[in-house]
Amino acid sequence: MRTRTHGVTSNNRKKVEFCAYSFKKWSASRTSSAWLTKGRDGMEDQWDIIIIGGGPAGSTTARYAASHGRKVLVVDGRENIGSPLQCGELVPSNEEMKRLCPKVPEIDDLFQTPDEAVSKKTEIMKIIPPSGKPLSFKFDGLVLNRVKHDEALVELAKKSGATYLTGKRVVDVIDNKVILKDGSEITGKIIVGAGGHHDVIRRKYWDEESLNIPVKFQLIEGEFGDDLELHFGTVAPGGYAWMFPKKSGANIGVGIQRKFSKGKSLNGYTESFIKEYGDSAT
Ligand SMILES: Cc1cc2nc3c(=O)[nH]c(=O)nc-3n(C[C@H](O)[C@H](O)[C@H](O)COP(=O)(O)OP(=O)(O)OC[C@H]3O[C@@H](n4cnc5c(N)ncnc54)[C@H](O)[C@@H]3O)c2cc1C
Repeated sequence: MRTRTHGVTSNNRKKVEFCAYSFKKWSASRTSSAWLTKGRDGMEDQWDIIIIGGGPAGSTTARYAASHGRKVLVVDGRENIGSPLQCGELVPSNEEMKRLCPKVPEIDDLFQTPDEAVSKKTEIMKIIPPSGKPLSFKFDGLVLNRVKHDEALVELAKKSGATYLTGKRVVDVIDNKVILKDGSEITGKIIVGAGGHHDVIRRKYWDEESLNIPVKFQLIEGEFGDDLELHFGTVAPGGYAWMFPKKSGANIGVGIQRKFSKGKSLNGYTESFIKEYGDSAT
């Protein structure tokens, strides 16, 4: 069995982060009419919209804004958006999304997942409660190749006309200025915070309480069947554990709340959970 390990700290949100972004609107009346000027490096230094973060939320926002004729700049601290992987990689199919969110219009336009970013289609979700007796229900899911998925969303946004500035970390947003770690500043009429759980604008302007749930996961090779599994109870106190089968292998992970973990480490919980599958994986 070969494994790759990824560990991150995730905040549990009240809102579905995948679709969510916060934004700070800068009054157009306070900007110069000549807001598209060339900076020293030839890049426009004033934009209609600057989006901090080019993940799914940022790149989707960029696609819509650019396709409506706005001058859009996406700034991302990563050189390669989408890498390294930090995800369980399960999303509902568009048909499932339409059932779950019947009032959301144009789901097919909103979620444009290319076929090559889908590792496996699933139909059954099993919830495994502390009793261990699984509850099965129908769930049309897509287990993604998340890295390919995020790269594809970037390409779609670029095709719509968005510009990307990668490998540049934003350290602050002051009024309509985005301040980069290298000290340079970029000006936009609207600044969108789409930086995920590290988002600069969210931290600065939104003091929402959220749970801190450390998460650890591995991509494991082997045969894991066709059903999605979510486990609750002592395997993942205060959180849950998942096994999402892929075309080859599975994405398996655990998230816990430390206050319920009785001194056992996240690594310990993850190893115990994965061992159940590791022993049966072929
Ligand atoms: C371990 C784990 C497992 C998960 N499993 C699932 C799952 O199975 N299914 C699911 O739907 N969701 C899952 N999620 C949640 C999902 O990954 C997020 O909801 C989703 O990535 C949010 O998308 P986003 O575009 O808002 O932010 P992100 O995907 O986090 O993208 C944010 C981008 O902003 C950039 N950025 C951040 N701060 C700055 C800054 N200061 N300057 C410049 N760039 C910055 C980052 O580099 C990144 O590219 C999981 C999350 C974790 C951590």
